Amino acid sequence: MKQSYDITIIGAGAAGLSAALEAYDDTLDILIIEREKNFGGILNQCIHNGFGLHVFKEELTGPEYAQKLIDLVMEKQIDYLLDTTVLNISKDEVFSIKATNITSGEFIIESKSVILTTGCYERARGHVDIPGDRPKGIMTAGSAQRYLNIDGYLVGKKVFILGSGDIGLIMARRMTLEGATVLGVAELMPYSNGLTRNIVQCLNDFDIPLYLSHTIKEVVGKEKLEKVIIQQVDENRQFIENTEKTFEVDTLLLSIGLIPDVKLFESLSIDTDPLTKSALVNQKLETSVKGLYACGNALHVHDLVDDVTIESRKAGKYAKAYVINQKDIDKKQVPIRFDHHIRYVVPQVVDYHLIDEPFDVLFRATQKHDVLKLVIKQGDQVIRKKTLKYVVPAEMQKVQIKPEDLINDLPIEIMVEEV
Ligand SMILES: Cc1cc2nc3c(=O)[nH]c(=O)nc-3n(C[C@H](O)[C@H](O)[C@H](O)COP(=O)(O)OP(=O)(O)OC[C@H]3O[C@@H](n4cnc5c(N)ncnc54)[C@H](O)[C@@H]3O)c2cc1C
Repeated sequence: MKQSYDITIIGAGAAGLSAALEAYDDTLDILIIEREKNFGGILNQCIHNGFGLHVFKEELTGPEYAQKLIDLVMEKQIDYLLDTTVLNISKDEVFSIKATNITSGEFIIESKSVILTTGCYERARGHVDIPGDRPKGIMTAGSAQRYLNIDGYLVGKKVFILGSGDIGLIMARRMTLEGATVLGVAELMPYSNGLTRNIVQCLNDFDIPLYLSHTIKEVVGKEKLEKVIIQQVDENRQFIENTEKTFEVDTLLLSIGLIPDVKLFESLSIDTDPLTKSALVNQKLETSVKGLYACGNALHVHDLVDDVTIESRKAGKYAKAYVINQKDIDKKQVPIRFDHHIRYVVPQVVDYHLIDEPFDVLFRATQKHDVLKLVIKQGDQVIRKKTLKYVVPAEMQKVQIKPEDLINDLPIEIMVEEV
């Protein structure tokens, strides 16, 4: 292994592998660092199918999707370190990446550019208020998935799920197929936070009830979980009297959201976005630190792995261009603004001096709309209009901006004309 690289990619899930493949060039030294013993990231525990329809034009399981990327990385003989954790990153002239593994202890790798693809982690009980006892049997849906699909343990027989995120929905089906009884899923919001296909295929097909506008009122059980009591909430999230429902269960799975894992940004002074809880990036997926790129779930939480690959290929391409053409240009950076119908956008800023090709602005709506009419403006001038049908917060949307759309260097504003 060398001590100095052109591009170092931290994390070898779908994002890291896809970025590495796109950055590959036989004149560049590229290194992938992964803390697990295997490549693939979260895909390794997602043994259901539904991956790859856009990127590979076939329906694959998570491990199959990962294997396709791994085979390509092996073919290109890209350097990698498995079972190696990156501890922190700093930047002077180049990046200094401090990592550790069992054979070498702590060591430093220098790199001209870094792509951060460290994925995300699940919100757990400590992130939300769940009143009641503290018994065994409460865990995140992703942990239960890992226990079942990787280690072979069924964590419970009678299960209730809080939160209708995709991991919870997939685990409702998975636990049912393995012989457990899933008594229901409670969702605080009046709509599901999971993909429509997962509601249909994981709940409806198995007659598992979804209780919208419901949350946990109390968890009961001294040693082991005995029951959960849920209750309906109004539009102000206040409990509605006499709507309690009690379920006798031994397991409560939490599927209450994912947060980008960006601990490694802490050692760099980086501009962040409180809405995505990750780095603020421009249309080239470059953070406010030159040469540092972020993509995949480390940048914002994605529903589909295909979208992770598409985004990460761009990060790989732009990191490669950065290393090859490194030059200092004065930035002309402006924000992308949006109204209250939109929860967040990525990228959050546009570097006008770097516009040389169309770029996508990804966003999530704050609520469900049958039709959403978008108007994209610069100052008072409308530069584009786009109508989207059946928009739900769980599904990421995108609008493409072409260089010829831009008529001045004022901020881009994405507004909703009509809902
Ligand atoms: C349960 C579940 C079901 C899903 N179902 C579908 C589906 O049906 N269809 C679909 O298209 N998509 C699905 N997705 C979405 C998709 O699989 C993910 O969005 C995608 O795989 C995330 O890729 P990633 O590379 O960004 O993150 P990850 O796969 O999480 O990879 C991040 C990697 O970074 C490594 N890492 C983190 N920190 C460090 C460090 N300090 N040093 C070294 N390495 C580090 C981690 O070990 C990990 O391997 C699902 C996701 C989940 C969680």
